[in-house]
Amino acid sequence: MPDQKQADAPKRIQGASSEFVRDINRRIVLNLIRTRHPISRADLARLSGLQRSTVSLIVEQLIAEHWVLEGPTGRLPRGRRPTFLRLNDERVIIAVDIRPVQTTVAVADANGRFLSQEIMATSADPDVLMRSLTQSVERLIGGSRKKKVEGVGISVPGRYDHSADRLVFAPNLKWQDVDIRNPIARATGLEVTVENAANACVLAAVWFDRMEECRNLVVVTISEGIGTGVWANGRLVRGLNGMAGEFGHVPLDPNGPPCGCGGNGCWEVFGSNRAALRYYRESGVEPGDMTFLDLLGRADQGDKRAAKALETMARYVGRGTRMVVAGLAPERIIIVGDLTRSWHRFGPVIESEVQAQVLPGGCVPKVIPAYEDGMARLRGTVALVLQKDFGTLAL
Ligand SMILES: [Zn+2]
Repeated sequence: MPDQKQADAPKRIQGASSEFVRDINRRIVLNLIRTRHPISRADLARLSGLQRSTVSLIVEQLIAEHWVLEGPTGRLPRGRRPTFLRLNDERVIIAVDIRPVQTTVAVADANGRFLSQEIMATSADPDVLMRSLTQSVERLIGGSRKKKVEGVGISVPGRYDHSADRLVFAPNLKWQDVDIRNPIARATGLEVTVENAANACVLAAVWFDRMEECRNLVVVTISEGIGTGVWANGRLVRGLNGMAGEFGHVPLDPNGPPCGCGGNGCWEVFGSNRAALRYYRESGVEPGDMTFLDLLGRADQGDKRAAKALETMARYVGRGTRMVVAGLAPERIIIVGDLTRSWHRFGPVIESEVQAQVLPGGCVPKVIPAYEDGMARLRGTVALVLQKDFGTLAL
């Protein structure tokens, strides 16, 4: 009966559309509470542009779902006494950061505050690490019995193919084709999400560092290797098989030293922490088992060869960053890693290298150090789990 079909069609479209609008409004309100709390219903309406009645309905629903709590009553002029709303910090997330040397497992609340953590050595054998990681996650869940665990977010130093559930590229971890998600999902019954470390840092910046208004930013993580996470047009860029953002493995000199990826002269061979230690050794000092932090310390104590090695590394970080600027035209570049502890040394060199080659018509992006104590990846995994409910909507 064609007439009946025609009569039904507009109704179905209207239904889907109003549900979509409700979902967007819910995310707007939830994100405003997350970023501005404690906040009153009146301020939510003013900031969101939604009707007071719409805001009240959404808030009642969020309270019923235990996402939001009503806090103390405020005092305002003219006798108004609004009730302030805040996120329920009894909802927690298990955050995991797998790094080539050590792995951290932490419990965080929805505000990105860390409540407890365990640290373990990262075994070269993925089966060994996955076993101790699963036990640690179970232990922390057991210790959070009175709270509701939302899920597990995992940051990995490589690229994870979400469709195949496999770690496909992790040259500094030297694991291949490992399923990181399912063993933990099976053991805990929780939803587990895995993300590349640099992408996790992008989420941390957008969620917790109030950079949600920035629609184009790139995070460059510098440690044993160099990773980049790309936020373009307000979205995380993953690419085919999750492989987007591997600027660290673009060769700056095809005749350069070998790289963990099998190539030669990649950006990370010249701009990583390991590169700085190599420059120091090449200047005639045997660094032994010296770490990158030791090298920073020596430079600060007046060791000229250490300072020179760091300057060479900084110049290459800047040169590689030019590729990122030319390719993506970001508004901001956030640098994550131990080098930010000596930003007075690195910042000016990186900025001058980037400025030296901005294309005609291009803008010089702000290069910002992520001053943090190694928690960006973990905070990013908290955002990774929460974005199921909060969305990635930039406000
Ligand atoms: Zn490489």
